[in-house]
Amino acid sequence: MEETGISREHILSILKNAKSEDTSYDRVLSSMCTYPHEIAVLAHTQFIEANMGDPGLFPGTYGLEKEVLKMFGSLLHHNNSPEKCGYLTTGGTESNIQAIRSMVNARRDINHPNVVMPESAHFSFDKVADLSGIEIRKASLDNTLKVDLNSVVSLIDDNTIGLVGIAGTTEFGQIDPIESLSEIALDRDFFLHVDGAFGGFILPFMDMEYHYDFEVEGVTSMTIDPHKMGLSTIPSGGLLFREPEYLDDLEIHTPYLSINKQYSLTGTRSGASVASTYAVMKHLGREGYRSVVDQCMEQTREIVSGAKALGIETVIDPVMNIVALNVPQADDVRKKLLDDFGWHVSITRNPRALRLVIMPHIDNNTIELFLADLEKLV
Ligand code: PLP
Repeated sequence: MEETGISREHILSILKNAKSEDTSYDRVLSSMCTYPHEIAVLAHTQFIEANMGDPGLFPGTYGLEKEVLKMFGSLLHHNNSPEKCGYLTTGGTESNIQAIRSMVNARRDINHPNVVMPESAHFSFDKVADLSGIEIRKASLDNTLKVDLNSVVSLIDDNTIGLVGIAGTTEFGQIDPIESLSEIALDRDFFLHVDGAFGGFILPFMDMEYHYDFEVEGVTSMTIDPHKMGLSTIPSGGLLFREPEYLDDLEIHTPYLSINKQYSLTGTRSGASVASTYAVMKHLGREGYRSVVDQCMEQTREIVSGAKALGIETVIDPVMNIVALNVPQADDVRKKLLDDFGWHVSITRNPRALRLVIMPHIDNNTIELFLADLEKLV
């Protein structure tokens, strides 16, 4: 670091250059993030110094967090004081880690606990295994890429403490059979965490009704991420438990803060993302999100029919706004899409297919341009 600082203008020009090297979302079909809503950005900048790690200093922001939790509760059929049952995390990874940590802490009587989840689970669960030493057991998928229930049951033993189901898998956007997982969990007194990091802001706004949240009796916790389809700013995550007691299992004594206990994984925690999530959820309302989801699903149908016209099939019929295209030599096509045309797409692991996430920044024109470029390569 230099001894003498540089001027504001100089800093701003360095930042501008750095920003110009970043990718704008215009040709990004690989990300679950998007441009946040304008009101979320405005709220974010107004609360930039608020630290939810020390909420006694920020009672106003803390109040907004409670309101957001109530809104999560109403989206996810949680009728038991949701404002006391969760908090806004620093993204889906923290939510998933904390959900498992709470299970482990509640079952200290089990020496080498394990949790069974689909092999489609997000890699955040591998991090919790690494951190806590808990064993993560991966169940295989059926031919629609939902978790195979026989495989789940076969992996359960005396040390199993919980199950995980996904409401919107990262690679395919598939929804696991949460009601059946719930029956298994209730029979054996297991926890059941549902990872709705992606689906949490989609499923409540779809025409089709799915049963994946707290209305399903065995569901004990859920991840929901406002910084993905919620159009809030990064890093807005959410974690909700069925009962307030589950949060107690996460509490650590905090001797020198304005509060004497803390349940979050991170210490300092963004109040800006609380304000931005509050602002965008209040501003859009269900109606606003419904139209965002409608638009994404409409574009998803467009891309599927355009791909079919090129002779390309999807791996599964898309359930939400994620499409996996069965393109021969998918890795080569992905590279050419980027090198020749600047499109960012990703690849699913099994089967290897071209994965597209149709976020709100994708419009009709983008789809047409993309399909035209894809046609040149297949
Ligand atoms: N869970 C699911 C289903 C996801 O798709 C993702 C990210 O894509 C995560 C969890 C992790 O979220 P984050 O990247 O915000 O930590």
